[in-house]
Amino acid sequence: MIHFHLTWFPGNKKNDWAYAERLLRGYHRFCRYYGFQGGLTLLGEELLSWPRLPDLIRFSRSLAIHPIRLDGCATALTPAKALMLARTGVTNVRVTIDGSARWHDHYHGLGSYSSSWDALRLLREVGITTEVLSNVTVDNYTCLPDIAATCADWRVDHYDFQRPGPLSQSNLMAPSAYRQLLIRMDQVYHEMVECQTVFGRSDHLWKLLYYETGRSSSLADDQWVYCGCAAGHHRFYLDESTLYPCRYLPFPLAQWPQNDLIHVFRHHPTMMALRQPASFTGCRGCPLLNYCRGCPARSYAFDGQWQERDPQCWRMEQN
Ligand code: SF4
Ligand code: SF4
Repeated sequence: MIHFHLTWFPGNKKNDWAYAERLLRGYHRFCRYYGFQGGLTLLGEELLSWPRLPDLIRFSRSLAIHPIRLDGCATALTPAKALMLARTGVTNVRVTIDGSARWHDHYHGLGSYSSSWDALRLLREVGITTEVLSNVTVDNYTCLPDIAATCADWRVDHYDFQRPGPLSQSNLMAPSAYRQLLIRMDQVYHEMVECQTVFGRSDHLWKLLYYETGRSSSLADDQWVYCGCAAGHHRFYLDESTLYPCRYLPFPLAQWPQNDLIHVFRHHPTMMALRQPASFTGCRGCPLLNYCRGCPARSYAFDGQWQERDPQCWRMEQN
């Protein structure tokens, strides 16, 4: 079964229960139509103070929308709220750790580093799957091995890092430096292979590293898209009531639920273009086209062209 993922930032819409109900029913219909297993990520700091949050989680579960993840609300977590999340059926909570205490507090405010780890402890105590994600920049990338090791010590369930969404030239690692970081993190992960933490490799450029070092299995020689960028395939981002193909691609698709989700998914020109490997002109000729395609959001943030090669892909650099 294919997993489809909807990330929703409710914003002011969180006070509108009728809207939330309509949205979830529409999403449920969409998933049933395509035979997707529909997951939901709820995003935002204010979620935990929303009185209808337990109702929303229970209602999602009753529609078999699962897993349900909360993101971006760790600093507001209390023991009572952690228990409520566990009892209503939240499966995962993601906590951002963006470096050492110094760097994390620099990005997120004084004291937020320690409150993030406190939140992870509370979540573990109530049995919710914990995820830590780091946004990696030129400033904090040397902190990643220590964060991974601390996650292992704290028995965090899942650790991964990603490049930050709105990239600019100033925080962009050079492609060769990013490759070195992946090699280093691969070593770190192997040294901790016995620990409970699962170390993710969600950045598609891991595939390039494994391909060039002979560690990937053989590539299929056909036209199927096997994996890589999920935008256009199995992901929507909903900002209040505006749909986007991904949280980081600023291309509004439609208002929802005013528009039919199946129609938007199937026929919107942006969704159709994102599903076509040939659209990715910067990746032309790459044997990993149907497995990677880099991150078009990062390409777009870099020079306004999502079809261009990922700004941190080192493949052409080495040719
Ligand atoms: S655009 Fe980037 S962040 Fe969004 S789904 Fe594709 S690879 Fe992931
Ligand atoms: S050229 Fe494109 S598909 Fe190939 S490795 Fe780079 S980003 Fe991935």
